[in-house]
Amino acid sequence: MGNTAQTFLLVLNSGSSSLKYSLFEEKSLREVLQGHVDGIGLDRCCLKVKRDNQWTETKFLAEDHLHAVIKAFQSLKDNDILQGFDQIQKVGHRVVHGGEKFTQPTRITPAVLKKIKSLSVLAPLHNPPALAGILAVKKILPKVPQIAVFDTAFHHSIPKEAFLYGLPYQLYEELGIRKYGFHGISHEYVSRLARKALNKQRSEQEEIITCHLGNGSSITAVKNGRSVDTSMGFTPLDGLIMGTRSGEMDPEIILFLLNQKHYTTAQLEKILQKQSGLKGLAGSSDVRELHDRALKKDKQAILALDMLAYRIAKFIGAYAAALKGLDAIVFTAGIGENAYYLRKKACSYLGFLGVKLDAHANRKNLTYISKPSSKVKVLVLHTDEARAIAEQL
Ligand code: ADP
Repeated sequence: MGNTAQTFLLVLNSGSSSLKYSLFEEKSLREVLQGHVDGIGLDRCCLKVKRDNQWTETKFLAEDHLHAVIKAFQSLKDNDILQGFDQIQKVGHRVVHGGEKFTQPTRITPAVLKKIKSLSVLAPLHNPPALAGILAVKKILPKVPQIAVFDTAFHHSIPKEAFLYGLPYQLYEELGIRKYGFHGISHEYVSRLARKALNKQRSEQEEIITCHLGNGSSITAVKNGRSVDTSMGFTPLDGLIMGTRSGEMDPEIILFLLNQKHYTTAQLEKILQKQSGLKGLAGSSDVRELHDRALKKDKQAILALDMLAYRIAKFIGAYAAALKGLDAIVFTAGIGENAYYLRKKACSYLGFLGVKLDAHANRKNLTYISKPSSKVKVLVLHTDEARAIAEQL
């Protein structure tokens, strides 16, 4: 049975059709339960709950985010963790877009809610589900403090020469068109772990490049704990080739396609967001599958992986220049933590920077994958965005 003296923090990450949640003991920050509602509003909807390293799955229909949040709360009681919801002291939400307004975790008030809502114009796919999650929690726990932690916030330190596009300046002033950057919660978290691992004196300069490679991917240049540039831009479509997103390209391609193919904006959006990237190049967004095919000499799979590795190396090279030096490269997230062949290929470009990979350590996904003699340390670190949010509540 739960202990009434015990208090908890709940972290929610609401996507367009999913809700991920984690419950942490408030004092120790031990994660006691993790849950995932997948397929909100769809027939395939189900709830997966992880407790004591074991997942259980239940089918149920969640019409909307409120339903999903109610089910999530229920799972906390069903698992005998909570006796009452009053044991939850704070709820943290991952909010993708904080614009230029939010640079810190922010307690959600009606005014803050309004601002997050107004930022939906910049993140139409991402901010509305976060708002739905916040409103659902407000219905169930009206008095509990809710805190928004923004994925853009870590990048607020990027200087103007890096965040502006070469467009009429007035478009920045009028419409906020600039680079915002995303995955900030993860980049901040793993760069902090790397700083600890490097164990440098505070006074020394410290340059780290963090590569968050998952379904969505981005690379960030971090100087003395602050983001100075990042590969995603005005939206999370920019930068690296991703699972299904194109990444950077000549913007004229869009205009050319509109003229040649007469696509609607919705069709074009679908192509760029869902049908491009690794999937568009080789038919699958899953790097595991592509690697299996590459081992069987599938040309398209080899090409897609080579293209991704090349771009990872290119951003690292560019950011080594932006940082004017480089102490460490960090690989994280699903691909970064597992795809040793991509790390190997990307690092094969970087010998001139002083990167020497330890093939055995890399193959085993160990924490340190560079040789002791490597001028630049290369690390594989597990990212944990829920924990990073809990730490900030
Ligand atoms: P998200 O961005 O949705 O949080 P993840 O960080 O979990 O995603 O990354 C998901 C991707 O990581 C998958 O699409 C897959 O390509 C890749 N991935 C996961 N596990 C492995 C693995 N063992 N080997 C190679 N790639 C993997």
